[in-house]
Amino acid sequence: MTHAATDPFVRVRGAAEHNLRNIDVDIPRDAVVAFTGVSGSGKSSLAFGTLYAEAQRRYFESVAPYARRLLQQVGVPHVGGITGLPPAVALQQRRGAPSSRSSVGTITTLSNLVRMLYSRAGTYPRGATRLEADAFSPNTAAGACPRCHGLGVVHDVAEDLLVPDTSLSVREGAIAAWPGAWQGANLRSVVSGLGIDIDLPWRRLRKKDRDWLLYTDEQPSVLVRPERDRVDYGYQGTFWSARKHVMHVLADSKSQQMRDRALRFVRSVDCPVCHGAGLRPEALAVTFAGRSVADVNAMPLTEVAELLRPVAELPHPTAATPTARSGETTEVAVRISADLVARTQVLLDLGLGYLSLGRRSTTLSPGEAQRLRIATQLRSGLFGVVYVLDEPSAGLHPADTEPLLDVLDRLKAAGNSLFVVEHDMDVVRRADWVVDIGPGAGDGGGRVLYSGPVPGLEQAGESATGRYLFGRERAAARAPRQPQGWLRLRGVRRHNLHDIAADIPLGVLTAVTGVSGSGKSTLVSQVLAGVVREHLGTAPAEGDEVEAGVDVDVREVSGLDPLDRLVRVDQRPIGRTPRSNLATYTGLFDAVRKVYAATDEAKARGYTAGRFSFNVPQGRCETCQGEGFVEVELLFLPGTYAPCPTCHGGRYNARTLEVTYRGRTVADVLAMSVDDAAGFLGEVPAAARSLRTLREVGLGYLRLGQPATELSGGEAQRIKLATELQRARRGHALYLLDEPTVGLHPADVELLLRQLHQLVEAGNTVVLVEHDLDAVATADWVVDLGPGGGDAGGRVVAAGPPAEVAGAGTGVTAPYLARRLS
Ligand code: ADP
Ligand code: ADP
Ligand code: ZN
Ligand code: ZN
Repeated sequence: MTHAATDPFVRVRGAAEHNLRNIDVDIPRDAVVAFTGVSGSGKSSLAFGTLYAEAQRRYFESVAPYARRLLQQVGVPHVGGITGLPPAVALQQRRGAPSSRSSVGTITTLSNLVRMLYSRAGTYPRGATRLEADAFSPNTAAGACPRCHGLGVVHDVAEDLLVPDTSLSVREGAIAAWPGAWQGANLRSVVSGLGIDIDLPWRRLRKKDRDWLLYTDEQPSVLVRPERDRVDYGYQGTFWSARKHVMHVLADSKSQQMRDRALRFVRSVDCPVCHGAGLRPEALAVTFAGRSVADVNAMPLTEVAELLRPVAELPHPTAATPTARSGETTEVAVRISADLVARTQVLLDLGLGYLSLGRRSTTLSPGEAQRLRIATQLRSGLFGVVYVLDEPSAGLHPADTEPLLDVLDRLKAAGNSLFVVEHDMDVVRRADWVVDIGPGAGDGGGRVLYSGPVPGLEQAGESATGRYLFGRERAAARAPRQPQGWLRLRGVRRHNLHDIAADIPLGVLTAVTGVSGSGKSTLVSQVLAGVVREHLGTAPAEGDEVEAGVDVDVREVSGLDPLDRLVRVDQRPIGRTPRSNLATYTGLFDAVRKVYAATDEAKARGYTAGRFSFNVPQGRCETCQGEGFVEVELLFLPGTYAPCPTCHGGRYNARTLEVTYRGRTVADVLAMSVDDAAGFLGEVPAAARSLRTLREVGLGYLRLGQPATELSGGEAQRIKLATELQRARRGHALYLLDEPTVGLHPADVELLLRQLHQLVEAGNTVVLVEHDLDAVATADWVVDLGPGGGDAGGRVVAAGPPAEVAGAGTGVTAPYLARRLS
């Protein structure tokens, strides 16, 4: 260690990752540092791509020398040098797919403590011996319920699904779950051979026979008599009940199509043995404070804290004895309870008290998951590290932002540095230091406009951030539009919405607001999307938030008739491999390929438009099959790509690239930014329209061939929006957007809002789940849910134009909105 140990700065020299222009910047340690700039300016390239990547690289090199070779393949961050860099921990929003077995309790490690509490200090039934902590986990062999293997649910067939039409006879195909064609005919012959009338309508069969046909495990064989004009000899046919057939397909079939079909006949139901807890009966028999471990896992964290607080504060605990039936008043109980209460308190402070320990991580929003990880870090005891965070305020109501900032301050007080990529100006104002990158995006950005204490940013003339941070710039007030009709929902039940009414105005832009957990996503992404989808008779799209076997429960809906289309513009990737990109997704690339096919050279060679696709064998580079990248197997970084050694990312074979248009190859076009392509393809109307809308949503800096895997959620969302905008359509669509402003600088939010209002002007309805007050303030209508999260929320506390909701004073949003509108 040289002077770096005493130098309080991380000093970056010559950073050139992505669009960064060989920048030098000094960033203080032991501070909360905000990285700001418009979308695409290079904040993440500096914070994650350079600082965090370099810290990772050093870590790999220290623990695994062989990683050096792999790192050369994926490339090390493009930087001259960094001094004073501590070890780094990244807390990103989207990090791989969480396993369906992880839960709030496992992410936070609180479940370990709860298990220890039940093992060491629980109350056991008379005669039972104490269980190990593992026995209270459904994820271990010692604890898992033998029936459902710890999942808590079992798939089972249901009569209404197996036999959708009870007026049909078995011969007419009453048992829809049976296979079709020959196998089905065979089964019917077998049934007939068993003496059951296959011509009687299903509902007139005896219950005993119906149950047997559907559920029996017996598989009698009978001699099936030849039917006329068919085979002229008999054969032995074996019976399969509907359940046995469906379960057999689900367990053994290799055909996804067969499995999908079989899934239509099953429902997941609570396991009849453990009633959903996933645990063995012995474990469920142990209680603490009168509750089983399953009860505690299902309670909101606020209640868990209340339940354990009296024990944590017990004045005179006794020593534990291993044979006692109960250890609830022992020192062990007090110690573990106190620890649990203290750790839970951090989660309550972060506004997550509505979550339960058993809540599956797959059902958490990215913001909830990130806050859980942040809270967990507080207890990790690490110090001297830098935490690199990706927009921790994402998904947070302004009321929830304050406590988050307190937690960041506590991490700092524990001796750590916080590097935070952030767009929320309230968070930026509270930082100790700000590094502003810009001024524009892509090639128009990548410079350090300012690095220093926050107030000094006001003097940085070029900075868009400065304009918003100091309130010099804000969207102009506009008069709310009049609703053209109403979509009325009555008796809505789902999650924490208990029999509520909600009215959504048509033909205007509505913002649905409320603190985290108040029910916004449930109302918009599940209920509203569900009823409209049902009305239109469309199937859920891939990834839509419909839980298997759960129907949206709404007693009464009216006003759906004007709607003829449902469009969800979300932040999910536009593709999962580098094979999809901006140009292919928007359809722009079709126009480009036609342009190349129409050149004289292409015609002379007989190249059609297909030849210019990097997905077609004739045109593409064979080494990478047209991906431009090859996947590198890396132990620590799943799904990492390195440039193709043959085409160096060009994707095409050499012959294809001999054809040029205006002096450029098709690979050159993919390498152009949207802005550059707008000039180059100006005379190609189909391309020009796409390019114009992409620029209008602020994506002029993206390269046409930028793989889907490199795009941020916000970029993906705006690409989807642009694709929608370029399709000039008649009719009335309902657009649903879940927090479209996440990841967007206030300047980008303005661009986005302009586009959304354009959709409304064209006669459509737009509904946003939103926290960004600029966005809420420009809405025509606000539906505020709350007042709290979980069961403390789930009601419409205020509804009306923004000024009215702000003035009404009910709900948590009103004061923030009032301040924004003043
Ligand atoms: P910000 O975080 O400010 O939104 P980024 O650092 O993500 O900006 O992006 C800066 C520029 O680098 C953009 O032009 C973006 O398109 C480009 N970029 C981002 N990731 C990659 C990547 N993996 N490969 C190539 N270019 C990238
Ligand atoms: P918001 O969008 O306002 O943050 P949500 O609609 O996500 O709120 O959540 C409302 C309530 O429903 C919360 O109590 C939450 O814990 C619960 N909830 C949301 N999704 C699920 C789910 N998949 N399973 C169980 N409970 C859920
Ligand atoms: Zn079970
Ligand atoms: Zn290649």
